[in-house]
Amino acid sequence: MKHLVIIGGGIAGITCLESYHYLKPNDKITLLSSSPLLKSIKQVNRLTKVLEEIQVEQVTIDEKIEKFTTNDDNNNITISISNVYKVDTVNQLIYSRSIDNNEEVESKIHYDYLCICTGAKPNIIPMKSN
Ligand SMILES: Cc1cc2nc3c(=O)[nH]c(=O)nc-3n(C[C@H](O)[C@H](O)[C@H](O)COP(=O)(O)OP(=O)(O)OC[C@H]3O[C@@H](n4cnc5c(N)ncnc54)[C@H](O)[C@@H]3O)c2cc1C
Repeated sequence: MKHLVIIGGGIAGITCLESYHYLKPNDKITLLSSSPLLKSIKQVNRLTKVLEEIQVEQVTIDEKIEKFTTNDDNNNITISISNVYKVDTVNQLIYSRSIDNNEEVESKIHYDYLCICTGAKPNIIPMKSN
């Protein structure tokens, strides 16, 4: 059994989790996200050959975990609010911090596969104002 760690709970991270779980239902998956709200695709409508309309929903971690645990036996999926601050690619370790009972907790997780889905920073184009 392999362990996939996903960093980020946006569209990319959740799609990675759902697709990987569909392909490898017995593998362990851990998703770490600094944001308490997760995004996922609710519905895809194909409008033309090249144009799709995508409906995105935002859910809490508890709602997402409930969806997974009620659908089938998904005890091998862990989703937690945690901020990753270091990735050791040589030893395949993830270092993260989370808050538990107002206390900062540090964690170290070993991964076999890693998917970094932390989004991007907007590139603000400088504009001259009059
Ligand atoms: C205001 C606004 C409006 C938009 N409107 C549209 C639209 O109408 N249509 C459209 O197609 N696109 C739109 N976009 C773009 C769309 O939101 C992004 O393309 C999409 O969300 C990118 O998804 P992502 O999963 O790659 O990243 P994100 O959604 O940014 O997710 C990144 C995740 O990584 C987590 N993360 C980051 N760093 C760490 C860390 N160190 N440790 C743990 N977790 C971490 C964050 O908490 C977050 O959950 C809009 C964007 C903005 C800002």
